[in-house]
Amino acid sequence: MHRDFGLSEDQREIVAAVREFVSEKAAPAASGYEEKHEFPRDLFRALGEMGLCGIPYDERYGGAGQPFLTYLVVLEELASGFCSLAVSLSVHHLSGFGIHRFGSDALKEKYLPRLFSGDWLGAYALSEAGSGSDAAALRTRAGRTDGSYRLTGTKRFISSAGEAELYLVMARSGGEGPKGISSFAVERGFEGLEFGKREEKMGWHASPMRELIFEGCAVPAENLVGDEGQGFAIALAALDSGRLGMAACSVGLAQAAFDAAVGFARERRQFGRPVIEFQGLQFMLADMATQIEAARRLYREAARLNDAGGDYSVAASMAKLFASDTVMRVTTDAVQVHGGYGYMQEYPVERYMREAKAFQIVEGTNQIQRMVIGRSLSG
Ligand SMILES: Cc1cc2nc3c(=O)[nH]c(=O)nc-3n(C[C@H](O)[C@H](O)[C@H](O)COP(=O)(O)OP(=O)(O)OC[C@H]3O[C@@H](n4cnc5c(N)ncnc54)[C@H](O)[C@@H]3O)c2cc1C
Repeated sequence: MHRDFGLSEDQREIVAAVREFVSEKAAPAASGYEEKHEFPRDLFRALGEMGLCGIPYDERYGGAGQPFLTYLVVLEELASGFCSLAVSLSVHHLSGFGIHRFGSDALKEKYLPRLFSGDWLGAYALSEAGSGSDAAALRTRAGRTDGSYRLTGTKRFISSAGEAELYLVMARSGGEGPKGISSFAVERGFEGLEFGKREEKMGWHASPMRELIFEGCAVPAENLVGDEGQGFAIALAALDSGRLGMAACSVGLAQAAFDAAVGFARERRQFGRPVIEFQGLQFMLADMATQIEAARRLYREAARLNDAGGDYSVAASMAKLFASDTVMRVTTDAVQVHGGYGYMQEYPVERYMREAKAFQIVEGTNQIQRMVIGRSLSG
């Protein structure tokens, strides 16, 4: 309804170009990639050519020098047409974020231009089989040897694994707890890094997920991102911005489900008239529209807080929590509005509903978001 409200002229132009890309290229290709379980590398490259793989970053490294808000609005648009593509760009952002904010000049010069041009895809590896919500309990070891670190252990549930050329990996270089964790930039081709079999998921099929298996993988010491022991802080800082990415993607997907529901309800006739004329359905659609609008404003305000240099961590958790619960509710109701047709694969809303669920789980489950918000209240 008010998708462009409050955006600058510059941002509106970028959004218009992305909308055209989504309607002409990304959305028509989405179901094909989802069915084939194939990462849309050509579309990701096209994003790079449009300057969209490093939107909020320094132009010196090939970024677009735009506010963080611009990046999120682009994600929202992409997710409305092809959720897995938007999610992959958001994961890509997590790896670039860590290196851009905390990496040495040499690391930035080496990796950021490749990431921001879209030549390389980036990924983010924090989770392990035994450490999800309690991420600081991770066990992958990074032992220091002459001139390098040797990584040993297994990372679980890693989006873009196998497909990505660069991984921001959190591993334990010191003792127990968060202060023993460091971050590393790990190339796909480093010896000792293998990939597990592809996970079969409920949705996001075009976003491949595998384990990263490190067997004494030698990572040059200069690929340490930030300082030793700073890795968990880096991981959390990346997650703050990533949570806003998940919120923006949730809003885009919810919008797509809502638009499909309205379109269907205007066409479908029962009892001699379009079903949208029944107040029972209108009220459902009115709630969906209101929730989407509220979620959009939450993530955009949090982005503005970030762009203004404020502490946006709690605002990001609120936006992620609310937007992902919204997309779950809205996609479920969109299926309901379609009646039996909504349950059929011929219509897109059943896919949207499956895709929505992941947003309540990734980058901190919604229980963890409530924990972050709750902790901020206890002072
Ligand atoms: C589609 C998808 C993509 C992903 N991509 C990546 C990726 O690219 N990189 C990466 O590192 N990880 C990734 N993950 C992993 C994701 O971050 C974890 O799944 C998530 O953090 C939850 O961890 P877990 O699955 O181990 O669940 P657990 O932590 O075992 O949680 C189980 C349940 O317990 C609840 N719970 C746990 N602790 C508490 C608490 N203190 N209070 C209340 N409730 C609690 C949780 O909310 C959940 O309901 C991905 C996951 C999915 C599903």
